[in-house]
Amino acid sequence: MSDDRTLPEKFVSGVVAHINEDHRREMLDLAHGLAGQRWAREAELRHADRDGIELVLRADDREEPLRVPFDAPLDKPNQFRPALIALIGRARANLGLPEPTEEDDDGGRNLGLSAALYRYLLATSVREPELLRRLREETAQMEEGGMQIGPEQGQFLALLLKLLGARRVLEIGTFTGYSALWMALALPEDGKLIACDVSEAYTSIGQRYWQAAGVAARIDLRLAPAAGTLAALLAEGQAGSFDLAFIDADKEGYAGYYEQCLQLVRPGGLIAIDNVLWGGAVADDAAQDADTQALRALNARLHADERIDLSLLPLGDGLTLARKR
Ligand code: CA
Repeated sequence: MSDDRTLPEKFVSGVVAHINEDHRREMLDLAHGLAGQRWAREAELRHADRDGIELVLRADDREEPLRVPFDAPLDKPNQFRPALIALIGRARANLGLPEPTEEDDDGGRNLGLSAALYRYLLATSVREPELLRRLREETAQMEEGGMQIGPEQGQFLALLLKLLGARRVLEIGTFTGYSALWMALALPEDGKLIACDVSEAYTSIGQRYWQAAGVAARIDLRLAPAAGTLAALLAEGQAGSFDLAFIDADKEGYAGYYEQCLQLVRPGGLIAIDNVLWGGAVADDAAQDADTQALRALNARLHADERIDLSLLPLGDGLTLARKR
């Protein structure tokens, strides 16, 4: 990738991009989505509204709160960005935190692998079709690009679909449509993927590529909160009719999506859940934000859930596979 911005720049520009849309919820998701980067995990976004944002930087048992008011015009993030980066840099220095390194950049996407080993894994195992590569690269240019799964995960989902002989698939959280495209390409001609997302802006990017790949007819995009879409499917009598559900959306919603998907997949069907290791935060007692707590609680709950066979893979940011018994 040709993005040569520093990690603080990427984090802050992502946050600022969302402030302009005034989507506090999405902004927090974004901040936590970036939590896999060790750099970002030290800087927790506590609060955000039209007047400014509050960050807390941590090192060991010390915290450095940062109140960042928006006195720059909200439609001119470029003026605001350098000031915020400088502010965070000073707070880091106060805490004695080291400068972020290139290695930190890969922390969220390929846990436990060095950058070199991850590159090797990609180079020697991933067969990413041209359109998927282009969609992934287009998404990576976006401020929120870190929310996208890696190519090795997309290929793995496609493999799972083929192993299951899947014809009907659910996706909770579609973003720019990269995982949906991997899965749609792995479905038979008459297969169906119901893609749930709330963002028309993000999913419209995916739709261009779904069309170009000739699989748009297999993807049924539902632009609405997923809990409502899943409830409607259940009300229509579609319980037990799906082969696989992929959950990769708002983390506090995971437990609810899981219960609904468990009803919607058939016995022997699979639920795949992304980001379950959350950049390592789930094993870090200092991380007590709502998303981390939700993921921790879900992981513990699945461990004790007798309705499923279970495996948690350290793939990407942690991928749980739950097979309905
Ligand atoms: Ca994800």
